Amino acid sequence: MDKLYKTFRRRLVMLGVAVLAIFISIIHITVYVAAKEDIESHLERNAKGIAVSIAQTLMMNVDEYLAFNETRDINSDYYKKMQAYFTSIKNVSNVKFIYTERRLSGNTAEYILDAEPIGSQDFSKPGTIEENDPEAEIVFSSGVPTAFKTTKFQRWGKLLGAIAPIFDREGKLLGIVGVDIDGSHIYSHLQRLNIALIAIYTFIVTLSIATLIKFSSAILDPLLKDKMTGAYTKRYFENFLNREITHAKRVHKNLALMMFDLDHFKNVNDTYGHVFGDKVLTTVSGIIKKSLRPTDYFIRYGGEEFVAMIVNTDIQHVLEVAERIRSIIAASPIFNLEKNQQVSITISIGVADLHNIAISPKELLEHADKALYAAKVTRNTVSLYQDE
Ligand code: GH3
Ligand code: MG
Ligand code: MG
Repeated sequence: MDKLYKTFRRRLVMLGVAVLAIFISIIHITVYVAAKEDIESHLERNAKGIAVSIAQTLMMNVDEYLAFNETRDINSDYYKKMQAYFTSIKNVSNVKFIYTERRLSGNTAEYILDAEPIGSQDFSKPGTIEENDPEAEIVFSSGVPTAFKTTKFQRWGKLLGAIAPIFDREGKLLGIVGVDIDGSHIYSHLQRLNIALIAIYTFIVTLSIATLIKFSSAILDPLLKDKMTGAYTKRYFENFLNREITHAKRVHKNLALMMFDLDHFKNVNDTYGHVFGDKVLTTVSGIIKKSLRPTDYFIRYGGEEFVAMIVNTDIQHVLEVAERIRSIIAASPIFNLEKNQQVSITISIGVADLHNIAISPKELLEHADKALYAAKVTRNTVSLYQDE
């Protein structure tokens, strides 16, 4: 397989992967990302709802709450009643923490109520002072409930929190209620879903690449190659010849063309028919292709005319290869079934190369054509283009 074909196959695969990547991204965003955001906002709304209703409950008994703000007696009936209330909420939901706070000077606040059992690790005694979270600051200054997610506290995993304001009878802000929902369960589900999706995507991409590589020739050949002989088409060759010449000049490598034309092919067609003529064309193409290296290019230039583009080889070697092709074809008669006879075929070959001079694709082709014309004088001959 030559370089150009490999390039095209690589591009085809890359294009396939790019299209798949876009497709997969769209699916991932519409399925996974959307679901994750929906679940998160659902949980945040839940947290907000609970925080607001706890704030309402506290506000119904605002005098008692205010009194506790002063006494802060954790052995009081009020504290026990509130803890029992918070526990009952925690028992029937995925709420992890419930607490209330009162704002102090600057951006600090002190804890008032806390749902954690007295003395437990996460228990915050009334009066415990803490720096405010940005979310708490928002509620302290705006008086509007807000929801958020946080991973700030590593120990508790992902929490989805909400904060609601507590007002007194006059509408003065007394403090806030904070509610944190435990998101670790849902996040670990989401993570597993994500991993499963990525595994599926990887599988699809791998399978698609393998399929693309396997069927790349089925896609590329009709675009680039002649169906009968498998050679590149003339139109396509003219597209890449210019680029190959520029490249050869830049890297100071030689580039040569062999131009082939079957001898008396019209006679072959006239005597044995077109079908046999086609068989001759495919047989001869096969012989030429076998004599070329995988990096060379083989082109069907016309009906029974072919071109081989030989890169990176000195002219002496190119002439040797051309001579070998000529002699193999001359020595390989093709059997005609109808007439039950061997038909000898010969070919004429014109050779031209860049030989270190500035030359255009058109000129190089003309040189090869002239050399072929010279070979046709005797036929079954290899001829090298010589400058006049
Ligand atoms: P010369 O030795 O001078 O090249 O003689 P020639 O008969 O080969 O030259 P010419 O160019 O006149 O004839 C080429 C013939 O090739 C004419 C055409 O019918 C035949 N031909 C072109 N394409 C095909 C093809 O695809 N299949 C078959 N069977 N014949 C083809
Ligand atoms: Mg011809
Ligand atoms: Mg011919």
